[in-house]
Amino acid sequence: MTKISNGKRIYGAWAGDPAGTPEDTARCIEEVMGSGRDMHSYQCGKKRGHGEGGLYCRIHDPEYVKAKLQARQDVWDKETAESTAKYKLEFTAVKACKEINPDNPQAVAERIVKAVNSYDAMKEALQAIKEPAGAWSNDKVTYLENVINHTIELAEQALAEGK
Ligand SMILES: [Zn+2]
Repeated sequence: MTKISNGKRIYGAWAGDPAGTPEDTARCIEEVMGSGRDMHSYQCGKKRGHGEGGLYCRIHDPEYVKAKLQARQDVWDKETAESTAKYKLEFTAVKACKEINPDNPQAVAERIVKAVNSYDAMKEALQAIKEPAGAWSNDKVTYLENVINHTIELAEQALAEGK
């Protein structure tokens, strides 16, 4: 901790050097630790001029430190939210498959994948039924079209709900 003695900051004071090193008023007031095994503390070596009273260097400006921490927190929050959502989704999906078939939820999941994959093919096939209908009566064509459209609608609804 930076000591204040007679209103002046003292750096690196310890039992072996109780007087420490007085503040250099051209430099940032932040206290930094020595590198490696050097356990002493020193006044930051960078020029001051930032933050409240211009007492800090750029990277020790409390506003800058706060913004940096907040940015890191935001990234962390976003990642946590994403992985939580993913986990919840997977948990819900597995739970639903287990409810359908407790002995083999994997088979249920595979069936759903197959159903989704075959959806486009089914839609195409249903559309194709319409084509040779030219010879049929208009009432029958209309009826068939209604049935096809209704089936597609139901399938789309089921898919949308499954997503
Ligand atoms: Zn500094």
